[in-house]
Amino acid sequence: MRVRETGGHDAVPRPFRAGAPAPPDDLEWDRAVRLIRAAGEVSLACHVVPDGDALGSMLALGRALRVLGKHVTASFGEPFGVPASLRFLPGQDILVEPGRMPAAPRLLIALDSADPARLGSLAGRAARAGDLVVIDHHASNAGFGGTRLVDPDAAATAVLAEELIRRLGVPLDRDMAQNLYAGLASDTGSFKYPSTTPAVHALAARLLAAGARPAAVARELWDRAPFGYLRVLAGALARARLERDAAGGRGLVWTTITRADRLAEGVGYDRLEGVIDQLRRTDEAEVAIVCKETDDGRWYVSARSKGGVDLSGVCAALGGGGHREMAGFLWPGPPGRALDRLRALLTAET
Ligand code: MN
Repeated sequence: MRVRETGGHDAVPRPFRAGAPAPPDDLEWDRAVRLIRAAGEVSLACHVVPDGDALGSMLALGRALRVLGKHVTASFGEPFGVPASLRFLPGQDILVEPGRMPAAPRLLIALDSADPARLGSLAGRAARAGDLVVIDHHASNAGFGGTRLVDPDAAATAVLAEELIRRLGVPLDRDMAQNLYAGLASDTGSFKYPSTTPAVHALAARLLAAGARPAAVARELWDRAPFGYLRVLAGALARARLERDAAGGRGLVWTTITRADRLAEGVGYDRLEGVIDQLRRTDEAEVAIVCKETDDGRWYVSARSKGGVDLSGVCAALGGGGHREMAGFLWPGPPGRALDRLRALLTAET
């Protein structure tokens, strides 16, 4: 099973590469446990523009390390700011600005990051770390880190973080459970994606038993927004165009959201990730595209397919990447030419 690229829509997903890493064996888990037990101070880093899995896994592990008496600092590369939908996650007092992380950490643990570039400005710390433990579930993981808790079959990094916490002998408390549950729910699309296995539900049951509150997680992650977001969404849907003949006759639906569109409603870029979930419902289109202008004037192009068209290569050809059904790329200017290129690539793909 391949993992799906989920969340972190602001960031450019990495292309899938063949030869996915093998899951960690007991020796590897033991090595990670030994490194952590021996450390007085542990630094944690997750990918830039963190999603529920990246941040939830990091906060849960950070809390477990504090229970063990470790000095913990955690961060992610700029832009340093917790996305609006994740501000409800408990335990954010361990977060520090990336510049305040140790310059050469003795032990650094990287979470949910397929390669060092995903750590943004913290990539240098990972390179200088005395020991680097990588906890990740991307099939495209580039193979960095001296100790690798990387399992492409894991539905979320939270699955691996929970196993590490268990192997460290730390009982799950309510805040750890809430963070891990948020990660699991995020990366399974609220238990809807094909990565939702019996083991995923078994883990969810353990997290609920430990105090996770699924109704609160669902409401915070998916079911609330300021009124301005509804106005921006309404505009994006009103501008949507359906091209039935695109993608070899399978159909393309697309829309755009400029910086001005959302600033008129007081809506930040980090609020826009749900727009494509509305567009992708279109029966007449295999592929859905949302072009979003970032605060620096570049455009992020998010793409989704229903599995009939492989988007990973299409988006890689435009400088981004991702997975079959979920991919994207950053574009330096207005998206007209990006859409032209996409149409041509989609036709070639079908
Ligand atoms: Mn993840």
